[in-house]
Amino acid sequence: MGLLEIASSKSVWRGIEYYKNNNVISVEQVEDGVYDGIVRGSADKNYSVHVDTIHPRKSTCDCPLANGKMIICKHIVALYIATEPKEEERFKSDLTPYESEEDERHAKRYDSLMSWAKKMTPSQLREAYVDTMIRLEDLERKMKYGKK
Ligand SMILES: [Zn+2]
Repeated sequence: MGLLEIASSKSVWRGIEYYKNNNVISVEQVEDGVYDGIVRGSADKNYSVHVDTIHPRKSTCDCPLANGKMIICKHIVALYIATEPKEEERFKSDLTPYESEEDERHAKRYDSLMSWAKKMTPSQLREAYVDTMIRLEDLERKMKYGKK
């Protein structure tokens, strides 16, 4: 399976955004299909990324999400797209237009909610979180017992 196929769709879409926003600072080929590079993350932190296109699961990144785990994060995706730009089109053409629009909408929505959440104070965040959990529970209850 390709690298994009083993990543979550959220990581793929955010990685593509990262690549397009020039977050890939450097990339060099180590050997055939293997690359090392630097990708700028949120808060201008730089992460060391290793991409193995032959054995995608050996790809690594030292960001908090992926460090020490076999997770394909958005930084790995961004570096991968930088080395193989055609993969972006290939990935998108494998999706139906509806799926790709939905995914892109989700990625944008995630970004705007996240930048909004970053501006909140801890007590506002706590309140919003509890409020959201209660709404979610209400929704689940309604789905379980049927709407009235
Ligand atoms: Zn990462």
